[in-house]
Amino acid sequence: MMTKEQVIKVLKNVNSPEAEEIFNKADQIREKIFKDEVHLRAIIEISNYCVKDCLYCGLNRENKKLKRYRMEREEILKAAEKASNFGFKTIVIQSGEDPSISSDFIGEIIAKIKEDFDVAVTLSLGERKFEDFLKWKEIGADRYLLKFETSDLNLYQKSHPSLKVASNKRIEILKNLKEIGYEVGSGIMVGIPFQTYESLAEDLMLISELDLDMIAIGPYIPHKETAFWRDLEKIEIKEIERTTLLLISLARILNPTANIPSTTALSVLDPKEGRAMGLKCGANVVMPDLTPEPYKSMYEIYDGKTKSKEWDEEEQKKLHQMLKEIGRKPSLKKGFRISRQN
Ligand code: SAM
Ligand code: SF4
Repeated sequence: MMTKEQVIKVLKNVNSPEAEEIFNKADQIREKIFKDEVHLRAIIEISNYCVKDCLYCGLNRENKKLKRYRMEREEILKAAEKASNFGFKTIVIQSGEDPSISSDFIGEIIAKIKEDFDVAVTLSLGERKFEDFLKWKEIGADRYLLKFETSDLNLYQKSHPSLKVASNKRIEILKNLKEIGYEVGSGIMVGIPFQTYESLAEDLMLISELDLDMIAIGPYIPHKETAFWRDLEKIEIKEIERTTLLLISLARILNPTANIPSTTALSVLDPKEGRAMGLKCGANVVMPDLTPEPYKSMYEIYDGKTKSKEWDEEEQKKLHQMLKEIGRKPSLKKGFRISRQN
């Protein structure tokens, strides 16, 4: 077990022999637990409306330049059918924090997807009422993904200016979600302005303390229409891509059976290698975007996010080819945490 000081030291030296050892050890653990299997989860981004003021995200409510959309029920189900036909065993329903989407609407979507397709359903809809979480679980939702983004409460407040006190409600919500039976996913962004190496080391500890079923660690990618665009010189973390990979490796070592995605942001930052790099550093999950156009191009969390093309046979082939090249294959299971039945 590494001390906080040791973690900080290696995060500041991502090209050191110690870092190399961590990358190798994480890959060995991943291989021992998951063999060559990679779980594929299809994301459908059902709305880009958001009531939140996250200073890092292009969907934040202050971005008046963004054209907003909400997908219709039939459009969502069609996208889910496409994902299922492509062999995805998990469908992730994601959106900005959009209270105008009723809990009944989401409930109907969950029920219909579970009825029609043999898939697990993950929700990633931001902070909602406890009753909503409970209802969706009872209807059949399997997992909830809500990143706490940073464990540094001052930084969290700084990046959410409407917060009156230094706090992060998401950490409490994650505990509630777990209690009512969801598989719970959470994690952080790496390299947001004002973030320190010390806080990254603390994030890693919180990730392990929460005993997450899924751990998402992605690089911060700036977006022009956000307040943080003016604070880019306040980014303290160097070599954000490699630091993200090292944090993925450390998370794998500390949480051997957790599902860890090679995040979309990694593949946007490094379109050629990013996704494969994540998988070689301890990740065992990939989450392609199956949102149909014109919506996919409008879900602009960060610059470059919307450049990839709509999912089709060719994209699917490219993904399978990449997996083959690194000695992996798509899993045919739903990919619950390994200690549970698949
Ligand atoms: N609204 C929901 C929420 O906040 O949980 C789900 C959608 S939100 C766009 C999903 C994730 O995008 C956030 O948890 C955050 O980690 C990530 N994100 C937002 N802005 C980002 C940026 N500029 N760079 C990288 N990731 C970002
Ligand atoms: Fe909204 Fe989520 Fe983006 Fe925050 S991170 S602005 S809650 S979409």
